[in-house]
Amino acid sequence: MDVMYAARLICSDEACAAEAEVVAATLAEVEAECCPACGAGMQVLGVSFEASATGAVLRMLSHERERLEREPARLAA
Ligand SMILES: [Zn+2]
Repeated sequence: MDVMYAARLICSDEACAAEAEVVAATLAEVEAECCPACGAGMQVLGVSFEASATGAVLRMLSHERERLEREPARLAA
């Protein structure tokens, strides 16, 4: 079973402070995430574990519009 990390992130730039949620297979991927608004590094606010990618994605539905701007190909798949 694949364990996914669903992480809540905030931009490390105080002037931006954009928040985002990402789902990744490893914590390294979570920490490598960049701010979608300004490209700065992100600080991890919290991480939850999901037993499946589907569960993780369901948690993110409210953030889907933000992701759509970044990853249009994912929604089409
Ligand atoms: Zn930012």
